[in-house]
Amino acid sequence: MSQTTPELSDCYDVLACGFGPASLALAIALVEPSPNPTPTYSSLGGLQEALGRASSPDKDAQRSRAAERGPLKACFIEKQEQFKWHPGMMLEGSNMQISFLKDLATLRNPQSAYTFLVYLASFTPSRLVSYISRETFTPSRREFSDYLAWAARKVEGDLATQGGQVAFGEEVVAVEAVVGNESSDVRILKVTSRDVKTGATTERFTRNIVLSTGGSPRLPHHLSTPDIEASGRVIHSSAFLDRIHPALDSLTAPLPASRALRVAVLGAGQSAAETFLALRDAIASHLPADVEHRPQIDLLIRSATLRPADDSASTNEVFDPGMSQAVYGVDSTGRSVMLQAAKATNYSVANPHTLAAMYETLYAQQVEVDIATRDNASFAKINRDPKLAIRPFIELTGARPPASADAPLTLELWHSATSLRSSDEYDLVICGTG
Ligand SMILES: Cc1cc2nc3c(=O)[nH]c(=O)nc-3n(C[C@H](O)[C@H](O)[C@H](O)COP(=O)(O)OP(=O)(O)OC[C@H]3O[C@@H](n4cnc5c(N)ncnc54)[C@H](O)[C@@H]3O)c2cc1C
Repeated sequence: MSQTTPELSDCYDVLACGFGPASLALAIALVEPSPNPTPTYSSLGGLQEALGRASSPDKDAQRSRAAERGPLKACFIEKQEQFKWHPGMMLEGSNMQISFLKDLATLRNPQSAYTFLVYLASFTPSRLVSYISRETFTPSRREFSDYLAWAARKVEGDLATQGGQVAFGEEVVAVEAVVGNESSDVRILKVTSRDVKTGATTERFTRNIVLSTGGSPRLPHHLSTPDIEASGRVIHSSAFLDRIHPALDSLTAPLPASRALRVAVLGAGQSAAETFLALRDAIASHLPADVEHRPQIDLLIRSATLRPADDSASTNEVFDPGMSQAVYGVDSTGRSVMLQAAKATNYSVANPHTLAAMYETLYAQQVEVDIATRDNASFAKINRDPKLAIRPFIELTGARPPASADAPLTLELWHSATSLRSSDEYDLVICGTG
């Protein structure tokens, strides 16, 4: 609790911790006039009605109050030094999982200057027609991330004209209530951030706070012991691109001729599936031309098979704009029922196209092995193509750090279908574990 009472003019109307896509969409909504009337959308699967759609606020009344009040002064604090959207997973060839029409602005205001279509048209010559010729709703992740960065740069300027700012390179470290002299009501919050380079702290005051810090990488607890973390042999998928090549450099240089490099990927979701496939090229690029043993990449999954994400039209209504308000309006039991029902859209499931690509890759590898075996041909080329394998029904029950710098680490595994246990050695573990 802080007793410092700031001048009201020093106070922001809104301060957001984090400047990812959620905050970016909010920033755009704060600088753009809302359309009149506010769009409302049909909901054919009945979900919103079931949760009590009537609880939606009167947006037109909100808009007229906003017009009377004038522009809000907003601050966004972001610990990264510039706008970046999941840079550790910007894998070549990866695509968005949702339609570009669900961009930062279209559903709030189809005429916004911040839509993906306006971004495409911002190039000279415009990429709009070429994009249309692709006949797809899903841009590459590379292109969409550039769209987000474009919107971030644009909104920074618009926020500044309203007295707002985006503070990059600062991490929010504390939020405190400020108690005024005349009343014990908390009307203002003090937000402290630390400069990620210098450590210097800054205090700001705000009437409203938005927490949009995204998720935090989750490692299985067996792999988050100090010994194992210090070994550098466990990489969370969110840091995949930053860490995979240095890790492979240090592992492949001293790789003993007596054994193959072995890498495990844990998880059955989209990130696990994508890193599993990406490891094939990443490892191949580090192998000596005369590698003797074929590297092995195992995808360890708890379930029997990888499951496709449910992307059907009525299931997708879970993500309709009106759903946030509908879910907000129900009690905690209703919310957990809803979250459970929505799991098949996002958790431990992968995009059907990724699953198809994975099966095709496994099949193509089998074709090469079958032909070489039948013809008694050299395996030199095959050895340079890491073997991908899926290991179902595997539960991680323990782990031991490597005994030396070039030794593997040991995973204790329980095979749920047979109740057998095994100790398996891997040089590197990638966690696509959420
Ligand atoms: C690889 C990958 C692909 C995805 N693809 C899709 C997709 O195709 N479609 C889809 O709908 N969703 C997708 N998602 C889901 C993803 O959660 C959303 O796309 C989106 O990133 C969520 O935005 P956000 O702003 O809530 O969180 P984030 O994007 O995580 O942003 C949060 C921001 O807050 C910052 N931050 C955190 N703590 C602090 C602090 N204390 N101080 C200051 N700043 C802080 C972080 O640095 C970060 O920039 C994907 C996720 C991943 C990992």
